[in-house]
Amino acid sequence: MSEMRRVSAICNGTVIDHIPSGSAVQVMRMLHIDGSHSNPISLVMNVPSSKVGSKDVLKIEDRELSQEELDRLALIAPSASIAIIRNYGVAEKRQIELGSELVNIARCSFFNCITQNPNEPLPHRLQVVSQDPLEIRCAYCGRAQSVGEIIESLI
Ligand SMILES: [Zn+2]
Repeated sequence: MSEMRRVSAICNGTVIDHIPSGSAVQVMRMLHIDGSHSNPISLVMNVPSSKVGSKDVLKIEDRELSQEELDRLALIAPSASIAIIRNYGVAEKRQIELGSELVNIARCSFFNCITQNPNEPLPHRLQVVSQDPLEIRCAYCGRAQSVGEIIESLI
C-alpha cells in the first residue's frame, strides 16, 4: 500500500479532512465520539499536507454527521473539508459554518452565571461576537469564553 494511503477507504460514513494538526481529539470530543459506540473510527494525526503543512484526518464509518453536528466543528476546525461517503464514493460535500450563536452546545464557564443554576432551566447560549479573531461571549452574563473553556464545558 502506498505511503499516501494511510487510512483505507470506507464504504459508508463521514470523512473529516484538513483538521488542524493535533485537533482531531478535540473534534472527537465535540462530536461525542468516545469509543463507546460500535462504529469503526479511523484517526490519523500529523499527516503531511501540501495545502496546510500538516493535518489530521478522521473517518467515521456508518455514520453521516448532520449539519448541526458539523457546525460545532467551526470552533476548532473551520477550514475542515467534509465528505459524506456512500458505497465508497463521495456522495456529498459539506461546508462548516460558524453561526452567530451556539445554543446548547456548551455551558458558560462563569461559576456565577445564571445558567449554572439548576433551578433556572435556560437554554445555554453563547454568542459569536466576532469570527476573526474569534470572540465568544455568554448571552446572559457576557463573559468571554475561550475555545479551551468551551471544549471543557461541552454539553
Ligand atoms: Zn454566562
